[in-house]
Amino acid sequence: MSSKAATHEIKFTKLFINGEFVDSISGNTFETIDPATEEVLATVAEGRAEDVDLAVKAAREAFDNGPWPRLSGEARRKIMLKFADLIDENADELATLEVIDGGKLFGPVRYFEVGISSETFRYFAGAADKIRGATLKMSSNIQAYTLREPIGVVGHIIPWNGPAYMFATKVAPALAAGCTMVIKPAETTPLTVLFFAHLSKLAGVPDGVINVVNGFGKTAGAAISSHMDIDAVTFTGSTEVGRTVMHAAAASNLKPVSLELGGKSPFIVFDDADVDKAAELALMGNLMNKGEMCVAGSRIFVQEGIYDVFVKKLEAMVKAWPMGDPFDLATRHGPQNNKQQYEKILSCIEHGKKEGATLVTGGKPIGKKGYYIEPTLFTDVTDDMTIAKEEIFGPVISVLKFKTIEEVIKRANATKYGLTSGVMTKNIDTANTVSRSIRAGAVWVNCYIALDRDAPHGGYKMSGFGREQGLEALEHYLQVKTVATPIYDSPWL
Ligand code: NAD
Repeated sequence: MSSKAATHEIKFTKLFINGEFVDSISGNTFETIDPATEEVLATVAEGRAEDVDLAVKAAREAFDNGPWPRLSGEARRKIMLKFADLIDENADELATLEVIDGGKLFGPVRYFEVGISSETFRYFAGAADKIRGATLKMSSNIQAYTLREPIGVVGHIIPWNGPAYMFATKVAPALAAGCTMVIKPAETTPLTVLFFAHLSKLAGVPDGVINVVNGFGKTAGAAISSHMDIDAVTFTGSTEVGRTVMHAAAASNLKPVSLELGGKSPFIVFDDADVDKAAELALMGNLMNKGEMCVAGSRIFVQEGIYDVFVKKLEAMVKAWPMGDPFDLATRHGPQNNKQQYEKILSCIEHGKKEGATLVTGGKPIGKKGYYIEPTLFTDVTDDMTIAKEEIFGPVISVLKFKTIEEVIKRANATKYGLTSGVMTKNIDTANTVSRSIRAGAVWVNCYIALDRDAPHGGYKMSGFGREQGLEALEHYLQVKTVATPIYDSPWL
């Protein structure tokens, strides 16, 4: 369905190491596919452990001897602001790459996500000259203060569902802190990150500060998490791989890890909620980005008094969800990112049918080419069904019925995940009780996916730990040093 992929010139397909685009040492390559057509889009250099080594050497040299960690915060801020401006100037190109490589939709990426990326750079640019320590009140005559220093070389392992957003989320705070880094994009979406690397050079980020190694998880990804000369790793992806990354970090140099993992978020609609608004948010919270969202409100709990009317409204909206060419601004539904994900979603839908949920609409692949799946609505879903327990990461909505607040809190928390949640009610007591009872990193009251660069984002339980966005994100990239010296009549003198 995509019209542009065949004619779009792809400029960057190699690895980006020490400020240059280079082939992999082995000369190996892999193909990246347009998920709308299943055609090969580009052949990309495939980095492995030896390429990660080279990238780490460049990042190490840039950290130990290069200018970036030693620049004033103001100087780093200026370069980051230039980077942000270049992102905006190249919004068409970045959005096109997100569409043809990742199956995203041009409109939301061009007019929303790219802007979020550049604003994230501006937000953290503003923090670069405000990183400061404390003066300590020591128990004896010692003067002491803390320095907050960059942690060193950071490895960023990122997923495929929002490469531009994810790049900014990880790279901007790391740059502000003064770190250098090696980034591994997901194997199905390397192109946007390579274009960002090109922009970083134009912005004046010194060579070796940002390095990109395209490649697969078990080779390039594993080489990053187990590398002895990488000082910290940030990972966004599945809970299963997050566990592997943490193991590798522990078994190598005990590097700190931050994990942003999967979710199975509850979206709770009480009888007194604005039902039109609730149905609209349930729709957006599940079908945006064809459901490939860690924050999807994929367990919709609806109180029995409005259950039937809610389902009717949601059904009409799901049926009207517009499909078509991803470059058409009216289109809301694109292809799933890759074949494996497409097959996983279809298999989850089969589980839903077999386990007795009511399939109200959707449930089938669309067309013969491209990884398209119909927006799908299940009702009469119960907590024990696979579709209520497992993260689907696709356009599949599950509606569950509840009676009381006590019951829904218990059921909402009965999951290994704890990433986000939503509650729709006009009663402030209900909103407060639910907000304080849900074990998740965010509670969105009468709204959903209220992500923001100033709002810390991250999981409870097996959705991970550590926070991205907000000034809290800087903590991954900084460490605290205490400097002490005796004064007056200190016994040390
Ligand atoms: P994934 O875990 O399969 O892959 C993520 C990244 O890890 C990719 O770059 C991959 O190449 C790499 N990887 C794979 N195996 C590895 C290994 N052994 N060692 C090191 N790296 C390895 O996840 P995915 O399928 O790309 O993304 C979907 C998942 O990401 C979902 O579970 C989703 O919820 C989660 N996600 C979470 C957030 C969040 O903020 N919490 C955001 C987006 C996606």
